Amino acid sequence: MPRRGREVARIAVKLIAKKTADGDPSGRYYWPLCATLSTVVKMSGTKWKIHKFGGSSLADAGCFERVGKIVLSTPHERIGVVVSAMGGMTNALLELAVIAEQGDDATTALNVIGQRYADTAKSLLSGDALVRLLDLWKEDSLDIGNILDTVARAHSAPQRSRDIMAGYGELWAARLLAAYLDAHAGNGRAGSWIDTRRVITVRHSDLGPAVNWDRSRAALQRVLDEDISDIAVITGFIAVDEQGMQTTLGRNGSDYSAAIFAALIEADALDIWTDVDGVMSADPRQVPDAEIIHSLSYNEAMELAYFGARVIHPQAMGPAIDNGIAVVIRNSFHPGHAGSRISAVTEPNGQVKGITAISGMALVNIEGSGMIGVPGTADRLFAALKDAGVSVTLISHASSEHSICIAVPGELGSRAKRVISDAFADELAGGQIQSVDVTDRQSIVAVVGDGMAGHPGIAARFFANLGHAGINVRAIAQGSSERNISAVIDSNDVTRALRVVHSGFYLSDKTISVGIIGTGVIGGTLLDQMHNERERLQRKFKLDLRVRAIARSSHMLLGERRIELDDWRSVLENGGKSTDLKAFERHVHADHLPHAVIIDCTADEEIAGKYADWLARGIHVITPNKKAFSGSQEYYKKICKDAAEGGSHYLYETTVGAALPILRTIRDLVDTGDRIHSIRGILSGTLAYLFNVYDGSKPFSEIVVDARQNGFAEPDPRDDLSGMDVARKLTILARELGLELEIGDFPVQSLVPEALREVGVDEFLQRLPAYDAQVQALYQEARAAGLKLRYVATLDDQGHAAVGLEKVPQTDSFSNMQLTDNLVQFRTDRYAQNPLVIQGPGAGPEVTAGGVFGDLLKLVSFLGDGPLI
Ligand code: ADP
Ligand code: ASP
Ligand code: MG
Repeated sequence: MPRRGREVARIAVKLIAKKTADGDPSGRYYWPLCATLSTVVKMSGTKWKIHKFGGSSLADAGCFERVGKIVLSTPHERIGVVVSAMGGMTNALLELAVIAEQGDDATTALNVIGQRYADTAKSLLSGDALVRLLDLWKEDSLDIGNILDTVARAHSAPQRSRDIMAGYGELWAARLLAAYLDAHAGNGRAGSWIDTRRVITVRHSDLGPAVNWDRSRAALQRVLDEDISDIAVITGFIAVDEQGMQTTLGRNGSDYSAAIFAALIEADALDIWTDVDGVMSADPRQVPDAEIIHSLSYNEAMELAYFGARVIHPQAMGPAIDNGIAVVIRNSFHPGHAGSRISAVTEPNGQVKGITAISGMALVNIEGSGMIGVPGTADRLFAALKDAGVSVTLISHASSEHSICIAVPGELGSRAKRVISDAFADELAGGQIQSVDVTDRQSIVAVVGDGMAGHPGIAARFFANLGHAGINVRAIAQGSSERNISAVIDSNDVTRALRVVHSGFYLSDKTISVGIIGTGVIGGTLLDQMHNERERLQRKFKLDLRVRAIARSSHMLLGERRIELDDWRSVLENGGKSTDLKAFERHVHADHLPHAVIIDCTADEEIAGKYADWLARGIHVITPNKKAFSGSQEYYKKICKDAAEGGSHYLYETTVGAALPILRTIRDLVDTGDRIHSIRGILSGTLAYLFNVYDGSKPFSEIVVDARQNGFAEPDPRDDLSGMDVARKLTILARELGLELEIGDFPVQSLVPEALREVGVDEFLQRLPAYDAQVQALYQEARAAGLKLRYVATLDDQGHAAVGLEKVPQTDSFSNMQLTDNLVQFRTDRYAQNPLVIQGPGAGPEVTAGGVFGDLLKLVSFLGDGPLI
């Protein structure tokens, strides 16, 4: 009935009732007529919409305001709002009973509860409404005090007392929200609240509380006969048993209350509001990469809930299924999000929907050859457990019947052992059963999805992921519905298990956790290049590059999912933590992501010294830093060995000739059976520049200063002039040929005058002109012979190596180079007549960063399902 129509009917009811009362002084007809007409008004017209708000959505005054907005913007005319207690309230109330049981005074703790409630109420209400609410709380607190006195005297809190205590949270939340809505809804639309102890009757059974539908429906009818407004707030969690005593629907039971209420009132929609965007592929608190599941079947939701996804109570599905009510899980902090829809139909997207875990289990294993082929062993076992009130969460029974393995809640482990030992005392004494063992601190990890049925390979992937992470599986179970595969593992491994299994099913094989050390020109340019290409690479190759850590010497940024790269410079400038390479490494090497790589863009020897450890732990390493690969032969071997053991890759193409494909070419030649006889090269962009530009007209020292100013030389030009940079590159090349060569094994001509080696940079630059004449003399000498001066590195397959100035003919390709070009000639079996030549810019941030990026893409082609491009 439209709202206006109902208003008219309401007034009509009042008039008729008044008339009837006038001619009916005894009231015999007055009340029944009133009730009937009022029910007609309330039960007719549009259907109800039920919202349920969990404790997380009712944590403080801001939450209540948010909830108020959601409720008041609901287009339905008749709205039921089921509420949990304010977040943490039920625990706090139950804690009072624990304090009292210990004989301690719980007044202080009760006052803390009262203060929180009063503070919230004062922020939301004023005037009479506030006074009424606080008075009611005062009355409740006196009742609670009485219960606690009794508990303290008996040193024990019976279940019934605990149920009463626990239920106050929902009563308080319902009253507060009703009063708040009343103040904001206008038109008398809100203000009433329904105490579900007057409506829902349950019977406690082995399978949890079961609703007495007939009784509850009749009770609801009676309640609706009262003056319930269009927006009614309803207490979750509490109910009565068939004896009329207060009880609860169990922890987290308000979801169930909401589903029961929706069924009783024949609602057409039920939204359960919480603090996450919906049902996720795993608990987002444990798996940062969890994704929202847009649609689930009732069975999937039930299975996930039963196996630990606390976002929804498993029993809530029953009433929803029976009445065909779609349940939508939504985020009260993000109401614009559509949430997860749970209904009879589900979109067939993929096979595994979610991964869950129940912790705190105990595994009981009964083992004995005497059980083989003896009928009824399992019956006896489960009957004994049932009689002792031990619920069994998972059963694994090998067909050999040599052992039966069950998982039970941890606190019931020793009871289960006792019960089983008693039930099979004769068999234990007679040796038919050898042992009944209990292992504590176990967890069940489960993968769930309707689509798993009939799909081979899911179990293989599940167990392979656990296996790769070194997680031992103690017991396994799969229902014949094939909707769930469960594994029992040690509780210490549970978060890691969830993460690796989740990444195995949900993430692209090409998802890489990236950490970058060094944000100078190369690191910075690399980050910018990655930022520009990320989306394209994701779209085109499903390559998910996640820069999750950026460090420079002073501080670092760590991002849980990824660091947004549009403004990383200012974020790093204005924040971050002090750099701690251990923490950096741990963060990058996250076990919820399939691969991790550290890119070292520094020239730091200490960081290079960490590569072996990282590689040994399975972290890939990419770097333009020459220090490690040109360091001691011993460390080089360790890197190779540790990487092999860790199954990791190290790529360092840019250590020689920036992005020029020099190392790659050597590998291709060697791997395809060519033999390299010699390598000759100009390997320093700086030295190439100095001798390309020098023509005797301008002093050499001035060209050095120019090069430094133009960024073609290091801040201390002696790093280049000493020839050590070239010597390092030559060492790296030699090792690619399989030669054991170290710095110190071959001559390196330094262009730094002896007297200027130890002085400061400024003094060096000041005094360098004194040596211009020497360079000039060398130049003139070469020129007179028709030759040019070049700083050249040479190497042959016998390990003869040298680095220094050479006079080369004008016709030689070394004589005809551009600015900072590098040039490398290979003489091989195949390139015997004419050398293979690689030439091009061998320095500069853009090309070097591009080369490092290229290595990263190369790494990807080694991972996952195969080549990237
Ligand atoms: P409420 O107070 O709203 O009832 P709960 O704390 O009971 O909220 O449930 C919501 C919490 O459930 C989330 O914050 C999340 O940490 C947890 N959770 C566990 N598994 C899942 C899952 N698969 N999807 C979403 N949330 C989950
Ligand atoms: N308040 C109750 C609890 O904390 C019920 C619920 O939140 O669903 O368990
Ligand atoms: Mg909950």
